[in-house]
Amino acid sequence: MSQEFYKKIIENNAKWVESHLAEDKDFFKDIAKGQEPPLLWIGCSDSRVPANEIIGAKPGEVFVHRNIANMVVHTDMNMLSVLDYAVNVLKVSHVIVCGHYGCGGIKAAMGNQSIGLIDNWIRHIKAVYRLHEKYLDDIQDENERFNKFVEINVQEQVFDLSKTSIVQNAWRNGQELTLHGWVYGLNSGYITDLDVNMSCNKELDEVHRLKFSN
Ligand code: ZN
Repeated sequence: MSQEFYKKIIENNAKWVESHLAEDKDFFKDIAKGQEPPLLWIGCSDSRVPANEIIGAKPGEVFVHRNIANMVVHTDMNMLSVLDYAVNVLKVSHVIVCGHYGCGGIKAAMGNQSIGLIDNWIRHIKAVYRLHEKYLDDIQDENERFNKFVEINVQEQVFDLSKTSIVQNAWRNGQELTLHGWVYGLNSGYITDLDVNMSCNKELDEVHRLKFSN
């Protein structure tokens, strides 16, 4: 199965190239000139949540960072580098954190089973649970609690994005940059906007508002 699949995806690639060239013979020549995507997508690595596909974005339209449970971990050099490049070089005007219902990372954070090295990543998600422990523990229905935790986690990741020096510096410089929190429904295919939009640091706790000396 896996050997067949491996061969098939290379063939798929050739078909994909041909179909684009049939529509526009300069498609790849134009793409190769550079990118100006208007948004950065921070999503989950889950194979069922392909960023470009679910929002109908073409190559060149979305800059993407994915990890388990769409986390914004402020010591993660990978995420920070993607964010810095997106904001300061590509000048994206939107950053979307997109979680999804049925997220395995979120589910693991609600349980106690050790999975391996990933336990250390899951700890970041557990820290979010701890912040909202009282509220979440009060939800009797486990599935409802799971869904709520997915939403709360997205919201917290949007807040964590707004706390980064990269985002606050962009706002300080008057750069147009809005952060958004979305959840994707694996069952329906639809995205829900959680309405946690942020475009300035005023909503942050005083302790997180950075002041810049120059
Ligand atoms: Zn996930």
